[in-house]
Amino acid sequence: MKREESIALLRGMEGTAFDPKVVEIFVQHVEEFDDLIDAEDIQEQVTSGAIDHENKTKPDAGLASDTLGSPDDESSGFRSISEAQREVFALHEIAQTIGSSLNLNDTVTLVSNKLKAIVPFDTCIIFVVDERSGKAIAAHAAGEESAAFSGRRMNVGDGITGWVIANSRSMCNASPELDLVGVPEEIAKQYRGVLVSPLLREDGAFGAITLYSKSRTSYTSEHVRLLESVCQHASSALNNALTYEKTRESAMVDPLTELPNARGFYMMLEQRIAECQRMNRESLAVISMDIDDFKVINDQYGHSTGDRLLASVAGVLRRELRQMDILTRYAGDEFVAIMPMASSAMAAQVGERMRQAVEAQVFSVRTGTMVALGLSVGFSCFPEDGETTEELLTAAARNMQKDKHGRKTILTLASAPMGQIDMMT
Ligand code: GH3
Ligand code: MG
Repeated sequence: MKREESIALLRGMEGTAFDPKVVEIFVQHVEEFDDLIDAEDIQEQVTSGAIDHENKTKPDAGLASDTLGSPDDESSGFRSISEAQREVFALHEIAQTIGSSLNLNDTVTLVSNKLKAIVPFDTCIIFVVDERSGKAIAAHAAGEESAAFSGRRMNVGDGITGWVIANSRSMCNASPELDLVGVPEEIAKQYRGVLVSPLLREDGAFGAITLYSKSRTSYTSEHVRLLESVCQHASSALNNALTYEKTRESAMVDPLTELPNARGFYMMLEQRIAECQRMNRESLAVISMDIDDFKVINDQYGHSTGDRLLASVAGVLRRELRQMDILTRYAGDEFVAIMPMASSAMAAQVGERMRQAVEAQVFSVRTGTMVALGLSVGFSCFPEDGETTEELLTAAARNMQKDKHGRKTILTLASAPMGQIDMMT
């Protein structure tokens, strides 16, 4: 728009959209502002009366469905044929390969790698809305300054990315600053252009692909079309990966106790061992625990009472552990704890504390009937008892079995009733 037209627009909305005093002061100073802008050398600003404004940017130019600037090329103003061919090929490649992995990380990496050949950017961030917090979280950041963006969280509705997700509509050529609140200033100020398209599924936008450019201040309608096309392919692949991730998460959690199950145990122990190895072979303890004669509970009070007791035992054990420790329900009545940075002395102490806590607890099995449970415990330590998940688990389970055997022998010798269940009616 020409300056006169912009001012007429502002005047027209005085008293409704704009405070008349603010409009007045703005109009008084508008030439000064233009000079300041010139001094800052922002050449894209439209100077008064200088150009034919028919096909140029409009006030709502950022909305991607509007006609944007001319086709993009530094010198000729036209994209070369080879460039267009490269885009078509990369798009085809995306469509072919994008659905080949169900892993969210692989999928986002693939999308951002292929995107480079289609739409120019310096930094690409793929945002996915986290269902629990409702925030858009950077699932992947690629390109320059990616470290500053990884894990970035934004409210849906905030900034440009948040707007795009809330409105399921692409946006470009707004000021990147609007989208960079919270990013260190020395990084934020380097960006001049931004283009964001939503990732859509039937129930609306579940994320967005955000591109920032340091060199270009404007993306063209062609870029918008291309990014939207990539988003279309990426959406279903990303959505599949998210669903898979959710199921995988639930496949690692035991629904009865809400603790990680054996699969979760192996995955987490492997990660912790790798960490210990990186951290100069720091120690780690694994404690194996099994309830004594648990079958008797099932036989006498029924399986569902048994289930309830197992969940209560999980709660008792959890309370004796530190925040950083991991308690898992390895199988049936067997629990395994992973204690990062724990020595064997600490494992022995915590193991004994967990045994005592379970034995001190009385569990209600039916109205007026309480039982006490016995717990056998054994532990192993990294690296002295083993360096792999299997070695550590086998050593801990063996020690637990020894403990169980020893305790049962003592009980038999003392001719106490097998079963360790004290009935207290
Ligand atoms: P031990 O002293 O040798 O440990 O004897 P135990 O009776 O506890 O036998 P064991 O640990 O070998 O077997 C565990 C038993 O726990 C077998 C099964 O009856 C019961 N159990 C396993 N999973 C569940 C479950 O999910 N719910 C219930 N209620 N019982 C289970
Ligand atoms: Mg048992």
